[in-house]
Amino acid sequence: MTDRRRELPSVDRLLRDPAIAELLRHAPRNAVVAAAREVVHRARTRRAGPPPDWGEAVREQLQDIATRSLRPVLNATGVVLHTNLGRAPLAPAALAAIAEVAAGYSSLEYDLHAGTRGHRADHCRTLLAELTGAEDGLAVNNAAGALVVALNAVAAGRRVLISRGELIEIGGSFRIPDIMAKSGAVLAEVGTTNRTHLGDYEAAIADAAAILTVHRSNFEQRGFVASPRSAELAALAGRHGIPYLVDVGSGLLADLAPHGLEGEPRVTEAVAAGASLVLFSGDKLLGGPQAGCIVGTRTWVAAVRSNPFARALRADKLTLAALEATLAVYRDPDRALSEIPVLAMLTTPADVLAARAQALAAACPAALAPRLLPGHSAVGGGAFPEAPLPTTLVALDPGTLGAHGLALRLRLGEPALVVRVEDGQVVLDPRTLPPERASDVARALAAALQDP
Ligand SMILES: *Cc1c(COP(=O)(O)O)cnc(C)c1O
Repeated sequence: MTDRRRELPSVDRLLRDPAIAELLRHAPRNAVVAAAREVVHRARTRRAGPPPDWGEAVREQLQDIATRSLRPVLNATGVVLHTNLGRAPLAPAALAAIAEVAAGYSSLEYDLHAGTRGHRADHCRTLLAELTGAEDGLAVNNAAGALVVALNAVAAGRRVLISRGELIEIGGSFRIPDIMAKSGAVLAEVGTTNRTHLGDYEAAIADAAAILTVHRSNFEQRGFVASPRSAELAALAGRHGIPYLVDVGSGLLADLAPHGLEGEPRVTEAVAAGASLVLFSGDKLLGGPQAGCIVGTRTWVAAVRSNPFARALRADKLTLAALEATLAVYRDPDRALSEIPVLAMLTTPADVLAARAQALAAACPAALAPRLLPGHSAVGGGAFPEAPLPTTLVALDPGTLGAHGLALRLRLGEPALVVRVEDGQVVLDPRTLPPERASDVARALAAALQDP
């Protein structure tokens, strides 16, 4: 083995190999050189040693380089807000807005009335205020960023009161104590893990700069628990002339209670309770692009807007285009439920899901012995962690490939299909699959069954 490694060709020699020289006729020289260098490096460092066919190895590596790493995926997991799969698919209106703004110039920071410099922060401002009942609004890069800038703007170097029951980790390295430390605010814990009372905040409020409430997005506390109502905390903060901040997380604007989804705080409720600043994600239950939305009173939103972190965490024009278009859809609540994909998926009736599962099963290769199975979808994104979302699943028998083997082939196919593996079966949930893509799913399954 060691001897064979010593005999590795140089990159220059590989490029003179006729099979590889041929590649240079179709691909840029830099790309072929990079591919050859990688193949030699791998032959030197990996146990497998040199490839059986250098020309073939370089050609494959070249193909890998040419494939985009950020690729569209068909989501058959039934997790609607799948953070690893990019959270919210966008509404048609948002896609159109992105395309228009991206293709040319825009009024991003330009006042078309005056013909002079305008303000990026003015986009989405009116809509955010109108839809939430707040006085003012601002969109930044994401909700974690919104919390950093808000805390820095209202409490740098000063104490912020937060219940011990809300010192949470949300995933993807979002931990409240860490975020707070980085924002420059000083964490002041009050109460206990399960019970925090208004008196706990009162006792600690003397030199506090703000009160913060964080929604425990991805878990629920039950049993011997207590926490003050938002309106009580807002009133307490108001009496002491300090702001009350609420991180509601998922940005629920729609009323999903008629569809059996209850318990997730709505942005409008926090605003109505008297919060000074309410923070939420753009790409969770709001169903828009990745963004951090901040709404609240004129004074406190202005303080956030003029903070240097607001500049560092500003939203780009594509985000603002998509967010504005998504928010505009909410002006008609019925339209929001049907046109915003996240809301449409969450409110798809059980009989419609059953019919889609049936159509999907009928299109699946017979070799996979498709069967219908009652099951559950998940909201994901830390929202409604215990919501019951009954669905009809299509269960597939993976045969000799095994469930994980079939799942791997499906992930690496074109289009990539991400499935659930349960009890040795591959399982598809129609809730997160666009119905018009059923034939693509069937084709992906058929391709995965073919010999490599
Ligand atoms: C998800 C979440 C965040 C982070 O939002 P991003 O948009 O991912 O930055 C912050 N706070 C709460 C309560 C959340 O649920």
